[in-house]
Amino acid sequence: MILPRHAFFRGAIVPYSEARVGVMTHALHYGTGVFAGMRGYWNPEEQELFVFRPRDHFRRFLESARLLRMELPYSEEHLTGALTELLRTELYREDCYIRPLAFYADETIGVRLHDLTPEVSIVAFPYGSYVVNEEGVHASVSAWRRVDDNAIPARGKIAGSYVNSALAKSDAQAAGFDEAIVLNGDGHVAEGTAANLFLVKNGVAITPPITDNILEGITRRTVLELLQRELKMTVSERSIDRSEIYLADEAFYCGTGIQVAAITRVDHRPIGAGRMGPTVSALRKLYFDIVRGRAPEYRRWCAPVYEGERDFARPDRTEDAPAASRGGAPPPLRVAR
Ligand code: PMP
Repeated sequence: MILPRHAFFRGAIVPYSEARVGVMTHALHYGTGVFAGMRGYWNPEEQELFVFRPRDHFRRFLESARLLRMELPYSEEHLTGALTELLRTELYREDCYIRPLAFYADETIGVRLHDLTPEVSIVAFPYGSYVVNEEGVHASVSAWRRVDDNAIPARGKIAGSYVNSALAKSDAQAAGFDEAIVLNGDGHVAEGTAANLFLVKNGVAITPPITDNILEGITRRTVLELLQRELKMTVSERSIDRSEIYLADEAFYCGTGIQVAAITRVDHRPIGAGRMGPTVSALRKLYFDIVRGRAPEYRRWCAPVYEGERDFARPDRTEDAPAASRGGAPPPLRVAR
């Protein structure tokens, strides 16, 4: 993996080597951090780097932070501005992955969420595919169950809860599969280890509801819109039984990392014809055009990094819901190159 050259850390852009924490850091011991994962897509025709739906990602990031009772001195606008500065400093002209993190930085012992101070960092690094075979993933239903809302809320992107994902992912790969399908405590399908899941059956696209212990994926939301508006499909957000997967016509994962990936086998059973089906194929084409800024009607989701100073952080550049700005002047941003 190529390390970044810079990081947004303690309110400034600093060399990556300076973005360091001590071994006593609270979040390192207790998982008391939240994070986001976004992608930047390079568009060679326009010589532009587009970040996909940054405001929606930062909104979920701030909501995840609220679940951990973190009071962050940043709004979506501040964070989007900081990200722009970071990417402009890195000068990426290729696809990249972006990782914002908010964590309790106190060097102290004691399990709690109060009387602690959060810090925010953002890094970005060049990145390609998350799975090698996006057109034919072999998944297995994991023996691990998804964290429950009353244990660690799955709708938050909480660092500690990714131990749950890591257990499922490594066991799936150790058993020869590419990815896991994780069921929730009720035995219904929740999602992958870092991706949401859809089935297609008799022309209807089905995905678990947000009350089934899933992360409310930005890609899931994107896909729900594309299935209805572009592919004219009926979508259903409802609980899914495990055996419905085995009998589906098509299945796919979606998420920032995995993008849109066809699941063609589950537990050694072929899904549908055992190869990527027409819905996933059409969706992938749409998705890759959209994220690279090539679909005019979805340009609102693509935030250009290099176009116009600070344009990226314009308050009117909304993606979906209105920005939940806390207002006020952004904290000072220093750039140390
Ligand atoms: N579920 C989990 C557990 C994830 O970690 C991710 C990746 N963030 C997703 C779903 C997909 O979310 P998104 O589309 O917002 O990347």
